[in-house]
Amino acid sequence: DTAIVLFNRDLRVHDHPALAAACDRAARVVPLFVLDPAVPEGQRHGFLLECLADLRASLRARGGDLVVRQGDVVRETMRLATELGAAAVFAAADVSSLARRREERFAGERIEFLRFPGVTVVPPAELLPSGAPAKRGDHYRVFTPYWRAWQRHVRRPQLPPPRRVRIPEGLAVGRLPDPDGRGAMPGGESAARERAARWLRQGLDDYADGRDDLAGDRTSRLSPYLRFGCLSPLELACRAERSEEFVRQLCWRDFHHQVTYAFPQINRENYRHGERRWRHDEDALQAWQAGMTGLPIVDAGMRQLLAEGWMHNRARLIVAAYLVRRLGLDWRDGARHFFELLLDGDVADNSGNWQWVAGTGNDTRPNRSFNPLRQARRYDPMGDYVRRHVPELAGLPAEHIHEPWRLPTPPPGYPPRLDGPDE
Ligand code: FAD
Repeated sequence: DTAIVLFNRDLRVHDHPALAAACDRAARVVPLFVLDPAVPEGQRHGFLLECLADLRASLRARGGDLVVRQGDVVRETMRLATELGAAAVFAAADVSSLARRREERFAGERIEFLRFPGVTVVPPAELLPSGAPAKRGDHYRVFTPYWRAWQRHVRRPQLPPPRRVRIPEGLAVGRLPDPDGRGAMPGGESAARERAARWLRQGLDDYADGRDDLAGDRTSRLSPYLRFGCLSPLELACRAERSEEFVRQLCWRDFHHQVTYAFPQINRENYRHGERRWRHDEDALQAWQAGMTGLPIVDAGMRQLLAEGWMHNRARLIVAAYLVRRLGLDWRDGARHFFELLLDGDVADNSGNWQWVAGTGNDTRPNRSFNPLRQARRYDPMGDYVRRHVPELAGLPAEHIHEPWRLPTPPPGYPPRLDGPDE
């Protein structure tokens, strides 16, 4: 019999439960990816195409291939299933409302639809707060108890890549569009594994001390690969075991996924504290998006995002808090811009973190004080992060770079401060 393995954001062959199960159970296996023009991928599109090319090469090396179709995912999958007489679809379960709707639609089709883990280290509904009745929508709302339970959780075994992928003869695989131009990071499992191996050797031991150093750029930059599933988060968590601080970040990713599983409207509605009144100010929003707010640390972050499709976590925290707390704008406006541009842009992580910063999410101290200048002096003391991303300020010495408005003549081309003087 024939099984389809429907890939989505699990673009790898290592530790892939759905692929491994299909190869074990079915005589013929058809790996499939459907490019859905209705799903906006923005910046991520080129990266995605590179991931698919790499996945196709890995499957070919195992005697298989990757079938690529374009259109609505459910319709195209069912069309292929009918063509090939496939009896089952194997896929990794996912948490966003879009993914859940897709799964529900498959449940209504005349085919067996089998869901597997693999998108997170611990599957979203597997850990529930103790004492609470296990009802639908139940989940951890606070990180620290989740982290404790997550650390104790017994993990599933990791799976090697299948030795052989037996596809039906004469399968029409379909053309994969070429990515236009090279992005800031190469997509695909091969690049991901190389980067992860280097990071585990050279970066991990310094992570706890270096992760907030903006100019030093000492985080893993593995997020786009985790976003597309080029790396198994379980494999990474096991291999990175010696740094609790790093593994804790992977747990944050799981945490936001289990919240999103229980509250799939997370990108649209406040998770807590109901609705608030936000200011509408299109000019201020545009200045923030362009990295022209006149506050150097904020502009550096926003320009890194524009240039690289990625931003350092400390900078994300600063620019997000600035938008929401200083400018009083709606976190959803900020989240939308991030989602459009980030290579790692992901509904659960993006919305979860934005809501955390906005005080509508899972922060147990939603009214934390926030001072971007203090953050700038602490996490970019020499101003090198600002110098790298804001060329108008590149010539300023450390004592002026974070507060150019104090200079007798303002640097040419750099805007005055949008948010007014400090209180
Ligand atoms: P590292 O520090 O090396 O961490 C390793 C991995 O842990 C990351 O790749 C990521 O998968 C995970 N991780 C780390 N921090 C977080 C976190 N706070 N929440 C969830 N997972 C985390 N991350 C995304 O992957 N996608 C997003 O869309 C996203 N949007 C964000 C929006 C805001 C406002 C903020 C404050 C953070 C956001 N993050 C998002 C989380 C975090 O900033 C990035 O995961 C991290 O900067 C990626 O860089 P890295 O791979 O070098 O991280």
